[in-house]
This record gives sequence, structure tokens and C-alpha cells, in this order.
Amino acid sequence: MAVPTFDAIVVGSGITGGWAAKELCERGLRTLVLEAGRPIDPARDYVEHVPPWEMKFRGLGDRKALERDQFIQRHCYACNEYSGKFFVNDRDNPYTFDPAKPFHWIRGRQVGGRSIMWGRQVYRWSDLDFEANARDGLGVDWPIRYADIAPWYDLVEQFIGISGEALGLPQLPDGKFLPPMALNCAETVVKEAIAKRFGGERVLTIGRCAVLSVAHGGRAACHYCGPCERGCITHSYFNSIGVTLPAARATGRLTLRPYSVVHSVMYDEKRDRAAGVRVVDAQTREPLEFRARVIFLCASTLESTRILLNSKSPRFPNGLANSSGELGRNLMDHVMGGGAGGIIPGMEDRTVHGRRPNGVYVPRFRNVTAPHSDFLRGYGFQGGASQAGWRRVDSLPGFGRALKEALGTPGPWRFGFYGFGECLPRPTNFVELDPNTVDAWGIPALRIHCEWSDNERKLLHDMSVTAAEMLEAAGAREVEPFVEQNPPGLTIHEMGTARMGRDPKTSVLNAHNQTHDVKNLFVTDGACMASSACQNPSITYMALTARAAAYAVDAMRRREL
Ligand SMILES: Cc1cc2nc3c(=O)[nH]c(=O)nc-3n(C[C@H](O)[C@H](O)[C@H](O)COP(=O)(O)OP(=O)(O)OC[C@H]3O[C@@H](n4cnc5c(N)ncnc54)[C@H](O)[C@@H]3O)c2cc1C
Ligand code: SF4
Repeated sequence: MAVPTFDAIVVGSGITGGWAAKELCERGLRTLVLEAGRPIDPARDYVEHVPPWEMKFRGLGDRKALERDQFIQRHCYACNEYSGKFFVNDRDNPYTFDPAKPFHWIRGRQVGGRSIMWGRQVYRWSDLDFEANARDGLGVDWPIRYADIAPWYDLVEQFIGISGEALGLPQLPDGKFLPPMALNCAETVVKEAIAKRFGGERVLTIGRCAVLSVAHGGRAACHYCGPCERGCITHSYFNSIGVTLPAARATGRLTLRPYSVVHSVMYDEKRDRAAGVRVVDAQTREPLEFRARVIFLCASTLESTRILLNSKSPRFPNGLANSSGELGRNLMDHVMGGGAGGIIPGMEDRTVHGRRPNGVYVPRFRNVTAPHSDFLRGYGFQGGASQAGWRRVDSLPGFGRALKEALGTPGPWRFGFYGFGECLPRPTNFVELDPNTVDAWGIPALRIHCEWSDNERKLLHDMSVTAAEMLEAAGAREVEPFVEQNPPGLTIHEMGTARMGRDPKTSVLNAHNQTHDVKNLFVTDGACMASSACQNPSITYMALTARAAAYAVDAMRRREL
């Protein structure tokens, strides 16, 4: 039987795969999207409006099943009885690590990938980030600067809809925003106190998030029901199922094939081009092949690198497009979990309506204008204020009717800052194929080597100090600084392992996410990142993907690919 042939193949249908599909289809290419997981039907699979009493375990989860099948995924806050079905089965999808150096790899395997469960926080990078490696002499210099990506941030933001407040800060460029969501009264108090005490150096704003504050692009405004990680039947937050894949489908050029686990990319040595991909059908286990003129790997940071490591040929015995030997190296994840909490006194007669699916943000302020003596780079805070409700049952005196009545009234306002810091690129954090482990489809699995360095530990400590300072400035009571010990991976911002760079000897991808070695092969997910900044990364992946797709189609038209 003839091998099915397309203009383009996209591997993965999550945040980046959806963007690649949309841009390639809209630019005229017949595009095959290969997705390892199952299809999703929002009407059946989304459960954001299901109350706990309709759940078998009342929302508390089946602990035995979690420990058996999702012993890694259960560490993620969003992997619960409702949305656990959007996270992978860890037994079918194994990977290995030294138990003394754990890495929690949190994954989704379905059409939509992790765009269904993601936290939707989106922050542009600035030249403070794109110039960081060159400035500090770490990793390799990014081959692009902010001006190269800015128009693509514009395109992505305007299409998916981002609510947020413009601040005019050089380290966190403003975007094309829909109206910001409102701060609550306690957040307003903290915002004003920070402005007064830190004179513009530290700033609190409402989170910039991919949730519609007004109707946009045929999608309804958010109705503040709250648990977005369970799906959204009104498509009010961005995921690829409700936004980019429908746009790709509307062109008539999209073929989406679920249950298609890509094993490797085929390399045609004579033409020096990627010829297509080898696939294992997830249901029948049948081996299949598909061919195309251009291939986009969007399977997520470590899965794309795994596919390349598994793509061996006489010319590339250590993985396709790996003449530099850099494939797998410089794995990063944000270090998270330094911060502080406290009670903002007063305002107990004031409350909020609905569940705003967003928090507050304090952009990076360390190493922005003046160098810090203890550490490189910086961090930002997420967090917010909420009013204690009936859950404070343990802390209230009394019992019976008096206790019930006390619980029915809102309690004090509790505020928390939670830091996310930059991870430095280091070659000693890397992945390789584990010679003894395969997944449920017989495909070699990864062995991950990753640990924090002193710089990340110092960021965590500083987060706890500066968060407490800001709460104290706001007159908070019972301020408690904290430093959590989270393993890498758990922040779910894994990046690097096929970095972009100017020199083919020290990087895998060029300035257009095209592999230096194989011209018709692109990697546009987080594998491409040369440094990690401290902002949530997915908007940057989306902008890079759209940019790379436009470049690839132009190159095809020029007959270079
Ligand atoms: C709970 C949670 C909160 C998050 N919050 C934020 C946030 O606030 N802001 C932010 O920027 N990021 C956030 N993230 C991270 C964000 O989800 C990822 O950065 C983003 O989804 C990465 O996009 P991707 O396309 O690379 O991967 P994914 O969205 O994971 O999609 C990859 C797809 O590829 C498929 N695939 C994998 N291997 C293969 C294969 N071999 N063959 C075929 N298909 C394959 C997978 O099944 C999947 O569908 C969060 C993630 C989670 C889970
Ligand atoms: S809070 Fe808004 S975006 Fe989230 S699921 Fe509900 S309606 Fe959708």
C-alpha cells in the first residue's frame, strides 16, 4: 500500500501542535496532525460544572488508583478525581531517574495535550531574557531578540484572547490585552502598599491570562465558574481543541489522527531530508508510516527530544539532527515554591462573587536594573487573596448552631505570594534513552538527570524574604515565609534539550526552530529554549511556533525545503 503523503506533518496536538496546524493549514499546506492520545469530546469529557456529590469519590479521588496508575501525575495540583483523566498513565508511559534526584514529569496524552489542564498564565519575555545567556556567559546566546518575536506575540495574543493590564515595564512587555479582571479588596490593599513602599521597583498587577474577560473570536466571556483544568464548555479559555484546531479544520486541509504514537522520524540520507515518521497505532499496535515535505515536532519538550533520540541512522547514530551532541542537554524547569502568606486585616464585611480563574502577578524585580550580589537572574510571584470560608471549621471555637452560623459568614482575608524562578541552563541536566525501559508501545523511554543548583536555591530563599517584606508593608498579620522543596519537573515548565543557537556545533536549532542538520525538520515546543527566564513559557512557545511555520512555508515556496 502506498505510504500516505502530506505537505506537512505535525507531531502532537497540544499548545504548540495546535498552533503549527493552524498556521501551516492557513498558509496552504495539507497537514497531518499525529496525536498519541485519544480524541476529546467536550460535551462528554469536560466536567467543570459537575458537583462533588455526582463524583464517585465526592471529588476526593480514588487514592488506590492514583498510587497504582498515576504515581507521578498525582503530585500535580490539577490531577484530581475530575481532571485526572487528562493526565498520563505512568505505568504505560514510564521514564527513569536516580531516586536521589527525582524529576516529576507531568504530561497529558490526548487531543489538546496539556492545553486542557494548563494554568493559562501568559507573560511575554523581554530582551532582559533573550540577552541573559550572552550577558552571563552561560549556555549559548539566543539567536533571536525581542524584536524578532514581538509581532508573533501580537498575533498569538490577538487570536487566543489575553486579559491583562498594561504596565509599561521594560522587563515584562505589554501585549494586546482584553480588559483586565478585577482585583479583590485585599489585593488592592496590597497593590497600593507595595507601590507606596517600593516606589515602582516592585509592582502588583492582575495576572495576564488566556481567559476571555469579554466575548472574543466567536467564544463567550468567562462566567467565573472556576475549575478550568476540567475543561470549559464555553471555550472561554484557550486550549487547542476550542481555538487553534478548529481554525486549522476550517481550511479543509487538516487531517487529525489520534491514537498515533510517533516512534521516530525517518531520514533520507540521499536527499539529506526528513522523509516522514514511523508511527505505532496506539489501539492496534500496527506499525505505520507517513511522509511529508516538512515535519514539525510539537510533542512537548521531552517527548520531541525522545523522538529525535530514537531516530537513529548511519549518519546520525546518536539521534537525528544531533551532529552537535547537544540533543538532550541543558534541561531546565522553573524553580517554584518560595513565598509567604499572611492575613490582611479588616474588610471582613466585603466579599466577592464567582470564582475568578486568575490570580495576581508581581513581575521580576531582581537583577533588572542593579545586579544582585548573591544570585543571577530572577523570579516573579503569582498568588492572590481569598476569604476564608467554611473550611476554617478547625480554627473556630464552639459547636452546633453557633458554629454553623459562624461558618456561613466569610472570614478574614488571607494573602499568599508564590514565587517562580529562573533555572540556569547546565549541560549536566540532561536526558538520554534508557537502554532497559520501553513504554507500552515498545518505544525506548527516557532517563532523566536533573537537579537544582545553588543559584536556584538562593532564588527560593530570596522569594521567601521579599514576599514577607511586601506583606509586612501591607500591614499583614501572622506573616509566614516558606521555602518548599519541589523537585524539578513539578513546575511543568520543562524546557531545553534541543536548544536554539547561532552555531551548529553548539546548538540543535537555528533562529527559526529549524534543525541545523536537516532543513525540513522543525522543533517548536519547549525543547528549543536556550534559557528559561522566569515567566510562564507557553506563550513564547506559541509565538515561536507561528513564526517557524511562516518561515517554513516561505522556504518551501522558495523551493529550499
Ligand atoms: C496543571 C498545569 C498548569 C500549567 N500552567 C501553565 C501556565 O499557567 N502557563 C504556561 O505557560 N504553561 C503552563 N503549563 C505548561 C503548559 O501546559 C505547557 O508548557 C504546554 O502545554 C506545552 O505545549 P506543548 O505543545 O509543547 O505540549 P502539550 O500541550 O503537552 O502537547 C503535546 C502533545 O503531544 C502528544 N505527543 C507526545 N508524544 C507523542 C508522540 N510520540 N506521538 C504523537 N503525539 C505525541 C501528547 O499526547 C500531547 O497531546 C501548565 C501545565 C499544567 C499541566
Ligand atoms: S472559569 Fe471561565 S474559563 Fe474557566 S472553566 Fe469556567 S467559564 Fe471556562
